[in-house]
Amino acid sequence: MLLGVIAGLGPLSYTFALQLIGDDVLPHKDAQMLWMIVAALFVINLIASGASYGQNYLTAWSGQRLIANLRVRLFARVMNLPLGVFDRWRPGEFLSRFTNDLGLMTDSVSISLPQLVQTVITFVGAIAIMFYRDWLLTLFLILFAPIVNFAVARFTRLISEGTKRAQDRIADLASNLAESLQSERIIKAFGREDFEVGRFRDKNERYFDAYMKLTQFGQTQTPVVGTIIQIAMLAILVFAAREVMVGRMAAGDMLQFVGALVLAINPINRFATYIADLSKGLVGANRVFEILDLPVERDDATDAIVPKSIDGAISFQNVTFTYASSNAPVLRDLSGEIKAGEIVALVGPSGAGKTTIVNLVPRFYEPEAGRIALDGIDIARIKLTALRGAIAIVPQEALLFSGTVGENIRYGRLDATRPEIEMAAREANAEEFILDLPQGYDTPVGDRGVRLSGGQRQRISIARAVLRDPRILILDEATSALDSHSERLIEAALDQFLPGRTTLIIAHRLSTIRRAHKIFYIEAGRVVEVGSHKDLIERGGPYSRLHAAQFA
Ligand code: ADP
Ligand code: MG
Repeated sequence: MLLGVIAGLGPLSYTFALQLIGDDVLPHKDAQMLWMIVAALFVINLIASGASYGQNYLTAWSGQRLIANLRVRLFARVMNLPLGVFDRWRPGEFLSRFTNDLGLMTDSVSISLPQLVQTVITFVGAIAIMFYRDWLLTLFLILFAPIVNFAVARFTRLISEGTKRAQDRIADLASNLAESLQSERIIKAFGREDFEVGRFRDKNERYFDAYMKLTQFGQTQTPVVGTIIQIAMLAILVFAAREVMVGRMAAGDMLQFVGALVLAINPINRFATYIADLSKGLVGANRVFEILDLPVERDDATDAIVPKSIDGAISFQNVTFTYASSNAPVLRDLSGEIKAGEIVALVGPSGAGKTTIVNLVPRFYEPEAGRIALDGIDIARIKLTALRGAIAIVPQEALLFSGTVGENIRYGRLDATRPEIEMAAREANAEEFILDLPQGYDTPVGDRGVRLSGGQRQRISIARAVLRDPRILILDEATSALDSHSERLIEAALDQFLPGRTTLIIAHRLSTIRRAHKIFYIEAGRVVEVGSHKDLIERGGPYSRLHAAQFA
């Protein structure tokens, strides 16, 4: 701050020099004094420049630090958002906030703010000098302030709205980009490259238009405000010159006054620009805070429990659930009991709600009514980390990260040792193919595991679950997309791994369903039938009909 004051005061030295030149140097033809003044000016402004550097550096440092911390906070918040938010927000919306909106904020804190401080100092100093020289003229000048103020306020609003529109559109563009990059295979398969380019071009044009509109607002502001100021300045100039001519003011004082006036004028226009930059930064901040203000996953209740041990008995009691984005409930008054260590299959038509049911167990979503209990304790009362720590999920689409095979397995338990990882791979029937890879466990799998086959990815995904050694295992169509060879390998692995663990299997194939102790037949969010394979076949209900249709 002190540096800013020094830097801001530097230019003011010129007004004093002008006064000295006008009052002493010129009338007395004092060359020696002129040189002294020049030397003093040089030194003072050299110091001011140094101070300006220091001030800019320090402000930029604190500004960047602020943004850097905010970036991590933003990421931490995104990581802790409930899954439901990701149903509503597209990835690009998040991406754009990390890049474009934080960028706007960075610009305004690291460029505008330090300059603003410096400019304010120069401005206030110049006004003070003017006031001291001729308070009446200065007051007259200040009369113009409301007009300038009004103009700047109007432009600020326009710029703020324009920025918001531009940021919305670039976020849309970023979402489009992210989605296209993820769907490249589909795009190629359907020959939709041109279609995608066309769509991207449209969104790009929309952003271009919004940006140009914004630029137009910003660029009109400078001449408009400039003209208002110029009128004021010319009026003052005429006035002051007349004062000197009638002998009411010394020439040196007049020169200082006009010098200060010039110094004061420049900041006004710059203020307008800074305010515009700051208002853009505020728009960015608002969009960033839209995420920071989203509720995180329901915080654990203060009396949340960490069970000493989890057996794995799960009970659904009259559970009703509706996704935020739809109005009809997906699960209606659903009840069911799963004993600890039991293997349960969820069967039913697509869209029946099977995935939704298993998603409620790790509390990815919260039921709207009813409750789910683990070993008799409402899961809402169990500490989230403890609850999820007891569960491993193998989804249909194995999600791998771009690291090595070993790193991907370790994701199941970060402190696992190499022998433990190898053990897990063996149990998942994955060791054989891993050892055949060029670098074994250290082979990179490529982005999302593109360098591996579906069956290989899925076995890594299972090894990851095995490593976690969960009490509860959820397999959501884990083998549905695999060839029968991979499937057999995985089923063999599961036969070793499942006993003693509560397992929820969503599957269509009889071979998978058969190993279940109990089958829940789900239709339209309800349990229609429960029983063993044999019971249900004998009963001749929907399960037996499905069975007959599949194996007729
Ligand atoms: P299943 O796994 O039995 O095929 P799901 O549980 O995935 O069925 O879906 C049940 C119903 O819920 C479907 O009608 C589906 O459209 C809807 N649904 C699934 N996921 C979401 C979601 N994230 N947001 C809104 N609706 C969803
Ligand atoms: Mg499903």
